[in-house]
Amino acid sequence: MTCGKIDFACTRCRLSKGRTQVVPGTGPCSSPIVFIGEAPGREEDLKGEPFVGRGGKLLDKILKEAGVDRSEIFICNLVMCRPPGNRRPRKDEIETCSQFLESELRTVRPKVVCALGQTVANRLLDNKEKMAELVKKDRTVNLVGKDVRLFVAYHPAACLYQRKNIGSFRRSIEASLRAAKLRR
Ligand code: URA
Repeated sequence: MTCGKIDFACTRCRLSKGRTQVVPGTGPCSSPIVFIGEAPGREEDLKGEPFVGRGGKLLDKILKEAGVDRSEIFICNLVMCRPPGNRRPRKDEIETCSQFLESELRTVRPKVVCALGQTVANRLLDNKEKMAELVKKDRTVNLVGKDVRLFVAYHPAACLYQRKNIGSFRRSIEASLRAAKLRR
């Protein structure tokens, strides 16, 4: 089941040319928290679900260790089609796809959002802060007309490349789950 209005035949941007399929967010539309990643990778493009590759497995593990099953949370991406070669989604692609992310957020209406990685955090905060700064604070931001608490975590892929980021990743995930009252 999807939350919000998704165009599965979308051709609004260049990413539609290389994708296998559109990858909408997954999870309960009643989730108190939404995790937002950057863009689908190879595994996600093939399966049609976000965070099912190596990064997703790490996220699942950290959630599990915090006592939360992935099925309890809504997880989605800034853009719904895989960028070629897993490059970062471009500004215009993010802008074009934002109507679908916004539709998901308007449907789920989370209390808490956890941004996975700098690209996502910079987009939601409309700033250019680096990860070292972003992960230090949690803030309140207005998203689709609602104030939500925003936490920033390292992107799971950044933890796979640099294991030293895992501690910070875990702390951010745990803090966001606590704020969403999914964890004591
Ligand atoms: N990385 C992301 O940002 N999103 C996914 O869905 C998978 C990997």
